[in-house]
Parts: sequence; structure tokens; C-alpha cells
Amino acid sequence: LDLKNEDLKHLSDLGSGNSGTVSKVLHEKSATTMAKKVVFIDAKPTVRKQILRELQILHECNSKYIVSFYGAYLSEPHICMCMEFMDKTSLDNIYKKWGPVPVDVLGKVIVVVVHGLTYLYDVHRIIHRDVKPSNILVNGQGQIKICDFGVSGELINSIADTFVGTSTYMSPERIQGDQYSVKSDVWSLGISVIELALGRFPFANPAEDSDDEIPEELRGTLSPTKPDGLSQAASRPKRADVGARAGVSLEGSGAQMSILDLLQHIVNEPPPHLPEDSKFPKAMHECIDLCLIKDPSARPSPTDLTVHPYVKESEEKKVDLKAWVDTLV
Ligand code: ATP
Ligand code: MG
Repeated sequence: LDLKNEDLKHLSDLGSGNSGTVSKVLHEKSATTMAKKVVFIDAKPTVRKQILRELQILHECNSKYIVSFYGAYLSEPHICMCMEFMDKTSLDNIYKKWGPVPVDVLGKVIVVVVHGLTYLYDVHRIIHRDVKPSNILVNGQGQIKICDFGVSGELINSIADTFVGTSTYMSPERIQGDQYSVKSDVWSLGISVIELALGRFPFANPAEDSDDEIPEELRGTLSPTKPDGLSQAASRPKRADVGARAGVSLEGSGAQMSILDLLQHIVNEPPPHLPEDSKFPKAMHECIDLCLIKDPSARPSPTDLTVHPYVKESEEKKVDLKAWVDTLV
């Protein structure tokens, strides 16, 4: 497909993130509805052309677990990427509107992410780098797919890592600037699953007087505030050093936690767990606990997880995802 702006009719806005904005468009010549992502990049034309070349690998990423790619083009000074439109949007939108994602659906989400990451790495040596609920999409047929993985090194370099207004799914090793691998994506999967199961970002600071049903045993792991001397630590960098605006807004909870507190918490404290609720099977707890092992050398890779009992069981289980998406109207 030879894509250009003139042939794409804007239908609606789908949302925006750190890197750009996404809209629903109609490619009139092929009568195809697409999602068009416009990325603003402050880079030289040569760099932009390089990014465009690197993005061509996306044409070869064909898997039922991955959102398909129609093409990319330059629309100076932007880069436009057109991909499969997923009409039920992303899991963050879904849980924010409809509440926690049902456990059987979560099993399928884990299967999709584990197999999608395995495909990307085994076949293309691609590390996703941005696994999170907003990059897991759902359509009306009940399909779940991942998107927004880092195919282009130049694109990754050009989009500065900005923490402003975002939660973080970064693994401890990535936060510390150590080498990170495909196992960092596994950490992000663990955090994402807990978020979808709880219906809130797992590191949210429970509001003092909230009626939130946070089980007592979870409060310790959820609370980022002042665990044993962390906050008084003399070595703590001044907030100004990392940018005064680095605040994390935790939608819905009204809680605020600075990005620095959050990063320190992830590095220094025990990882979060799925809630101790009988609706989450034991094997699922074990699987998520493995994803959230802080030491990357002890954490499984996506390939390791493909043979985990919970992943295998969830793969085989018949779950009517179509019936589930039909409830999201
Ligand atoms: P970040 O920029 O940090 O990756 P993000 O994933 O929230 O954050 P975008 O990737 O720009 O930001 O996406 C914005 C929104 O657009 C998403 O939350 C999602 O709901 C929607 N979206 C993205 N891609 C598609 C798609 N292919 N089909 C339908 N909706 C999409
Ligand atoms: Mg995204």
C-alpha cells in the first residue's frame, strides 16, 4: 500500500501518549479503516528517513498476537504510521471504563503477550520495550494483540524518555541503567496484569480515608510511602535534579506519587503481587510472581513462560472473548 495523507480521511481521534497522537482514518482507495499514529520528531531529515527505513521491518511482523502494519510515511516534520484499527481500543481504556478485567480474559492477555514477545524476539530479535495496558489492544471479534514495540533504534533515540504524567512499567534493572533484555518486558507484563486485575496501577498510594477495597495484606506493598528509611535517605537526589514536573498522576485514585519515589520504590522494595483473592488461581499467582522477580537473571524470558503451566492452561482454555467484548459497548 502506498500511503499518503491525501488518501486518508480523518474519522475520529483515538487518543494520545508520550510519542504522538492516534486517529481513526479511512483509506478510501482500499476502503480500509486504519489507526494512524503521528509521531512528532525533532530530528534532521536524514534521521527521519533512517527511521522510515527501519520501520519497514514492521511489514514482516506477521502474527496473530501483533497488530498488523499497513505502512509508514513522512509528513514533515512528522512520521505517520498506519496500523490495524482495533475497535475496542486498549486495555487501559477498557478497565478505566468497565473496571477490572475478568480473570479468564487476563489468562488470554498473558498468552497473547508471552507469545507475541516470543515471536518478536525469536523471529526478529526485537525487544518490545513498552509493554503496558495502553499497548494491548482489543477488537470486536474478541482478538487481543500487542502494538507499539521498538523496531527502530533511531525512533527510540528520537523519542526522549519522558516520565511526565505517566506511570512506569520499567523493570528495576532498566531503572538502574543496567543492561536490559527481553526479560524487562516480562516485568512490564507482570505489572500490567496486576493493574488490570486490580483496576488501578499497582503502585498507587492508597488514599488515607478511601473506601477502596484494598485488602489489608496488600497495603504494605502498595504503599510507596516511607518504608524503612527510604525517604530520609541522605543519598536521595534532589527532586529538581530530575525535573520539577516529574509527577505521576494516578487517575481515579487521586493519589500522587513523585516519579522519583516510584522509581526508588520499584528498585528498593519487594515487588507487588496479585491480590490474595480466590478468583486468581494459584498457578496464576506463581506465574506473575515469576514475572516480577527483581533479579533479571532469575526471571523467566517470554520463551520460558510459553511452557509455564498457567500459560499452557490459559492457552488451552476456551474463553468466549467475543462475549466479553460484546459487554463493552
Ligand atoms: P505511549 O505514547 O507512552 O506509548 P499510549 O500507548 O497511551 O502511550 P499512543 O500509543 O499514542 O499512546 O496511543 C494513544 C491511544 O490510542 C491508546 O491509548 C489507544 O487507546 C489508542 N490506539 C492506539 N493504537 C490503536 C489502534 N491500532 N487501534 C485503536 N486504538 C488505538
Ligand atoms: Mg501506545
